[in-house]
Amino acid sequence: MCESSHSEPISDVHGRPLGQLRLSVTDRCNLRCRYCMPEQNYEWLPHDDLLRYEEIADLVTIFTDAGVRKVRLTGGEPLLRRDLERLVRLLAANAHMEDIAMTTNGILLADAAERLREAGLGRVTVSLDTLRPERFLALTRRDLHRRVLEGIRAAMDAGFPPLKLDMVVMRGVNDDEILPMLDFARELRAELRFIEYMDVGGATHWSASEVVSRGEILERIERHHGGVEAIGGQGSAPAERFALPDGSTFGVIASVTAPFCRDCDRSRLTADGQWYLCLYAARGIDLRGPVRRGATREEITSLITAHWSARTDRGAEERRAARSRGPLIAIEALRQDPHLEMHTRGG
Ligand code: SAM
Ligand code: SF4
Ligand code: SF4
Repeated sequence: MCESSHSEPISDVHGRPLGQLRLSVTDRCNLRCRYCMPEQNYEWLPHDDLLRYEEIADLVTIFTDAGVRKVRLTGGEPLLRRDLERLVRLLAANAHMEDIAMTTNGILLADAAERLREAGLGRVTVSLDTLRPERFLALTRRDLHRRVLEGIRAAMDAGFPPLKLDMVVMRGVNDDEILPMLDFARELRAELRFIEYMDVGGATHWSASEVVSRGEILERIERHHGGVEAIGGQGSAPAERFALPDGSTFGVIASVTAPFCRDCDRSRLTADGQWYLCLYAARGIDLRGPVRRGATREEITSLITAHWSARTDRGAEERRAARSRGPLIAIEALRQDPHLEMHTRGG
């Protein structure tokens, strides 16, 4: 595939442009977070199906020609994919690319931060749900809390812009750490984002009673810190941002109680080349097949354009409208199709 000229972004049925692309580079993970991978056993994607870095980078040039400007590396745990900096370098060589970010659990970050920064990674978000090592072990089934803290420190030393920290808040699990986590992030000059516990595929133990809503999170922060002020600039970003009276900022991602589908320009490519137009979509569009059959660039562009133009997805809003909510997908169905898992399609 060779480079072609850039045109205006295409829009879906609701006028949402094809914007950000999340690249899940692996479905494997070195943690077992209870809101994402609570089961004992998982079905993994066959190794031969995984796109090579060149295949990913070539596909991304088609996406950037169609309007994408930002990519986020995710997974599974993206740092489990070997030599990830090689992919970052290929993506950074794309002339249309404005932003390359990564979401990681931080376990392997201490070792990789500098290499990734040098390769052209622009921003890092680290997922961290607790400041307590014993709680981390209970939440993730791995005794690796210290490694995450070392990873955060290394990313700061490597010169990344202020980090983002993502915390999934679960009632009775870690909701007593809303304020301590906020203090921790402020000390690091990182921006903490509180995420509502979502009923995505993989969250097989989800229950509405464990969700701590955006409203409740804000109320608890206001009770302690005084009024918080909403600050603009959300755009198509999932986090609403707020400022504390001292000027420090934080975000809330209210996918359950206040979903933001109306502005959603995000799609996801799995490690084996399935393209999902929504986090909740039941099916993806196979891009690996055409790539490996030698489809022309124009053919793949047409496929992407046709599907995005017909996109109507508003998954989180539809879930909110559902009368009774439980786990989205039964474990038997997840075992039949690992693509339904959050750790496969990327958070
Ligand atoms: N392994 C990396 C990590 O944890 O940062 C990247 C992939 S992970 C699937 C991406 C994000 O999805 C993480 O911030 C994680 O907290 C979030 N996530 C996973 N399951 C979730 C759920 N049920 N509700 C809300 N967020 C979830
Ligand atoms: Fe946790 Fe991320 Fe792994 Fe899911 S993919 S189990 S959220 S570290
Ligand atoms: Fe976008 Fe789907 Fe998430 Fe709504 S549920 S914000 S449409 S990915």
